[in-house]
Amino acid sequence: MQQKIKSMSQSLNTSDLEFRLDSLSAGEGLALIAELFPGKVVFSTSLGQEDQVITQLITSQNLPIQIFSLDTGRLFPETLELLARTESKYKTRIKVYYPETSSVEKLVSEIGINGFYESVENRKSCCYVRKVEPLKKALAGNQVWVTGLRAEQSANRGGMKRVEWDEANQILKYNPLLDWTFDQMISYINELNIPYNPLHDQGFISIGCAPCTRAIFPGEDPRAGRWWWEDSKKECGLHAK
Ligand code: SF4
Repeated sequence: MQQKIKSMSQSLNTSDLEFRLDSLSAGEGLALIAELFPGKVVFSTSLGQEDQVITQLITSQNLPIQIFSLDTGRLFPETLELLARTESKYKTRIKVYYPETSSVEKLVSEIGINGFYESVENRKSCCYVRKVEPLKKALAGNQVWVTGLRAEQSANRGGMKRVEWDEANQILKYNPLLDWTFDQMISYINELNIPYNPLHDQGFISIGCAPCTRAIFPGEDPRAGRWWWEDSKKECGLHAK
């Protein structure tokens, strides 16, 4: 759906913006977005490889884009260690959002500490409390949400656009790496010595919470390691499609 958006300097619609961004590199696109929406652009990082590329693009240009992450309380220690390493390398502070203590206590008392294994409904409740609610807090008051989504990541993400209106969060979503291939991303990481999660070297591709992520086998879908016991769509509610 086409959506009118008001930037500081002009009124745009999503297709106009997409047209402008299509001819730019990811780094140039981020710079344009930061310029059009000053102080209103945020980037959510899960410390995955795509997100590490975007952090590099933002910090190397010193763009005024707030980088934030969601600590669900169930992340791998390697992910938190990478967060610290990333802050140190890029001399930046990543704002960390946490779930509400009272919501987590209520959830755990209802479904149990690992109740997400028992049903899709329980799993979605856990993702809602630990991810979706903190995300809403992080996005509130902003105009653009930058994400590291790539179209190639899974079939569910194939219909994505570079710029799209996120109805659930009432915000414009910008996916600068939309058309990057996996190999292109890995070359970029190696070339620039970008820090990455050591779990990637052990077969983990898409890394989320520790109890809900496993390494994948050669030839499996990149997101097969997320909620591997489920048959459902491999998304947690952060991204509507
Ligand atoms: Fe809970 Fe697993 Fe979702 Fe993390 S990925 S929020 S542990 S269900």
